[in-house]
Amino acid sequence: QAFKAKDNSNGFTYRKVSHGKYTGPKEKATFVTLARNEDLYSLLGSIASVEDRFNSKFQYDWVFLNDVEFSEEFKRVTTAMVSGTTKYGLVPAEHWSYPSWIDQDRAAKVREQMREDQIIYGDSLPYRHMCRFESGFFYRHELLDDYDWYWRVEPDTRIYCDVDYDIFKFMKDNGKKYAFTISLREYEATIKTLWDTTKEFMDKNPSLLHPNNMLDFISDDNGASYNLCHFWSNFEVGWLDLWRGPAYSAYFDYLDKAGGFFYERWGDAPVHTIGAALFLDRSEIHHFGDIGYYHVPFHSCPIDESVRLNNRCNCNPNDDFTWKGYSCTSQFYTVANLEKPKGWQKFAD
Ligand code: GDP
Ligand code: MN
Repeated sequence: QAFKAKDNSNGFTYRKVSHGKYTGPKEKATFVTLARNEDLYSLLGSIASVEDRFNSKFQYDWVFLNDVEFSEEFKRVTTAMVSGTTKYGLVPAEHWSYPSWIDQDRAAKVREQMREDQIIYGDSLPYRHMCRFESGFFYRHELLDDYDWYWRVEPDTRIYCDVDYDIFKFMKDNGKKYAFTISLREYEATIKTLWDTTKEFMDKNPSLLHPNNMLDFISDDNGASYNLCHFWSNFEVGWLDLWRGPAYSAYFDYLDKAGGFFYERWGDAPVHTIGAALFLDRSEIHHFGDIGYYHVPFHSCPIDESVRLNNRCNCNPNDDFTWKGYSCTSQFYTVANLEKPKGWQKFAD
């Protein structure tokens, strides 16, 4: 039964949101979510938001991954929420455990020290398995073999604006292979030797670097040091072959052998960022400034009112993090030679 305006009892006029379904050709693309069974209800709001704003129109698949079997409840409830086909995969044990070359006592001592130093997640072994898995293994899961593109979604996140175009087709048609919404600076204490290890890798494998890479996004001194800038990986849209290809594969293996996922607390966000910055053409990295996004504690909210009105964004531009000093997105626009939205300085502090 169609909803008619002004037919409600309290006299307000409601506008029925059109969820016209797109039925043309689609990309080989999927959402991908790593989650625990107990994340179900915090994940549901994220899925509802992505479905309401985007996917109900396109019905892309959704792959869920977990290091233990998903519960029947998790599968039932998420399948009801997703408009596309849902798939549930178990992470193989070798993708979620210590590799043979890691000294487990040394790793445990590091966690103890980081607990004393109160480094966020510094005392957690599962968090390290998660970061290593997202860095080097999610794209190798057999459920992802069917796809070229992914969009990563985490619990407790939100999309703030309507997305009326096919994000994946946009990526393909515009020559984009990695896209982000929020960027910021990493806690140095979690990645003390990541850049030195990366430099060793670059010295040994100069031919793997893209000749038109974006080193100037992650380093302010032509590679001598890392400026800690990274794309926040809880939201990512990307081309799976970026990670599956020889350059990133060699890079991940090199990092994994160095042991920093366990002896430090290397995050998948800086690792992906360095990979994208070094192995892609700089024009292949995209900032989605039009869809709005939230993951505690940062909001991305388009500061241009016409964008918010056109896309029905439900966010407050005063909360926007994009142009603030601790964000790296302003630097991204500078090095990518992009025009910043008018008045961005007003949102800078
Ligand atoms: P934060 O965003 O860095 O605070 O980390 P989260 O707690 O959000 O974890 C990142 C992602 O990994 C989320 O999608 C979590 O659901 C997932 N995750 C974290 N730890 C585990 C775990 O031990 N097992 C599984 N299956 N998923 C996890
Ligand atoms: Mn998270």
